[in-house]
This record gives sequence, structure tokens and C-alpha cells, in this order.
Amino acid sequence: MKRIDLHNHTTASDGTLTPAEAVVHARLLGLDAIAVTDHDTPAGLPEALDAGQAVGVEVIPGIEVSVDWQGRGIHILGYFIDPAASSLRHLLNWVVAERRRRNEAIAALFREDGIDITLDKLVKSNPDSVIGRPHFAAALVEMGYASDVTDAFRRFLDRGQRYYRKREYIPLRRAFEVIRDAGGKAVFAHPLQYRLPEADLLELTRTLVDAGAVGMECLYSQYGPEETAYLQSLAARFGLCVTGGSDFHGARKPIEMGTPDVPYELLEALKAR
Ligand code: AMP
Ligand code: ZN
Ligand code: FE
Ligand code: FE
Repeated sequence: MKRIDLHNHTTASDGTLTPAEAVVHARLLGLDAIAVTDHDTPAGLPEALDAGQAVGVEVIPGIEVSVDWQGRGIHILGYFIDPAASSLRHLLNWVVAERRRRNEAIAALFREDGIDITLDKLVKSNPDSVIGRPHFAAALVEMGYASDVTDAFRRFLDRGQRYYRKREYIPLRRAFEVIRDAGGKAVFAHPLQYRLPEADLLELTRTLVDAGAVGMECLYSQYGPEETAYLQSLAARFGLCVTGGSDFHGARKPIEMGTPDVPYELLEALKAR
């Protein structure tokens, strides 16, 4: 069976493998295709596409963005985007500025409490990355304030904790317009992540379909067979194609690329949309 993984992060956002290393990793695992889907940036895509050519792995240029739905950040994957599209660049500049504002606020709060974290230091230790909470978490672990990234989120950075600061997410319809303008296809990522009551999940799915979503990530590293079956029935009900991926972040999360098994046929069906 030809296998794929349509959800992977690199050092361009909060993964720990460079784009080229991630593609080589896919090759070593025997995967036939992977999508590179960094948060809020296409910056890793040229390197990943080159590496794919070099080692014989099909690389799908992708992105993962957070869109606003009732004040929550809902993750949308965009596949087959043109990394150089100007509308995309414009939108992501705004996102990065908003992240900077929020990162400065979080760092200032840590310093107020005597924890010496500056944005400058985070940028220096993560050059060329879109900086987010995972990088704060890694710094807290390194400085001995947390035992691991999960612990750092739980005690410091999760919503409801002292150092959590909200950021503004992209208006939902605008995100879909920009993905479409950039030649991309939009997919609802890990729909069970938000622990929504079923009625809300249905309402959200309807909203995303109306905005232009073509697929749903039903196969996901955190979901068991029952959850996957449920999502597949939901996808069928809304006329969405089924996709799947691991949400690989290298050493930042205990998830291996290529879990679960995702058959190549799902990529063909996505391409056909
Ligand atoms: P941000 O976009 O800066 O708010 O950071 C969100 C990212 O942090 C998510 O995409 C996850 O990769 C990671 N994350 C969120 N919550 C946790 C957690 N409890 N443990 C580990 N990583 C997390
Ligand atoms: Zn991430
Ligand atoms: Fe996500
Ligand atoms: Fe992700």
C-alpha cells in the first residue's frame, strides 16, 4: 500500500526537523507523499519541494492557519497552495504581526514574575520560525521551570493559565478566500480537538463547508477507530473528502510521522476536488 501523511510541521513553525530533514525522514519511513503544513507560513515549502525532488518523495505544499469561529481558533489546512501568492503573503504578515504583539505580552509577563524570557532570545534560538507558545514552552523546559513541554503548557501557557494571552485569529471567510486565491484546497483539521458538543460541531462543519472547505481530517494520530468512523460519517454527510495526517512536530511532540496509516488514494481524491 502506498502511504502518505498530510499533516507535518517543520522548523519553519514549531517542528524540530528542518523542511529537508522532514522529507528525508518521510523517505526513511517509506512514505510516498507528505504535505508540509507549517502554522502561518509557507517559508519551508521551497526547501521541502526541492528535497522531495532529490529523494523521491512527493511533497504537497501546504499550510495550517487558525480561523476565528465564535472567538475560538479553528485550524484549517490549505493544500496545493502557491507559496508565493501575494494575497497569502499579505494575510500572513498580519498574522505574524499579531503573534508578535501577543508574544511580547507573554514575555513581558514572565519577566514581571522574574522569569527571564525575551522575544529576542526566542528568535535567536529559533531563527526563521514562526514563534508561538511551543517555543515559550521549550524555553521554560530548558530553564528548568517545567519538566517537559506538556507540563509547561499545563502550568503556564494553556488557556486559563496565568501566561496565556489570546491572539486574534483570521476572519473565517477571509482565510478561505485567500487559500482559494493561492490555488489551495481547504480542509477542516482535527475536528475533535475542540471537544465541541455535537450540535456545535455540526454547526461549525456547516459554516466551513459554506465557506469552501472540501475535506475533513478524519484520520489523525490522536483518534481511535471509533472517532475516525464517526468523522468519516460526518464527512460523507457534508460531501467532504476524507484526509489524514499525523501532526508531526519532530521532538516537540511524541507523535511519529506516518501515524496512522493513510492510503495514497485519499490524496488522489483530494486532488480530484
Ligand atoms: P500558538 O499558536 O502560539 O497559540 O500555539 C499553539 C500550538 O501549541 C498548537 O498548534 C500546538 O502545536 C501547541 N500546543 C497547544 N497546546 C498544547 C499542549 N497542551 N501541549 C503541547 N503542545 C500544545
Ligand atoms: Zn504546531
Ligand atoms: Fe492544528
Ligand atoms: Fe498541526
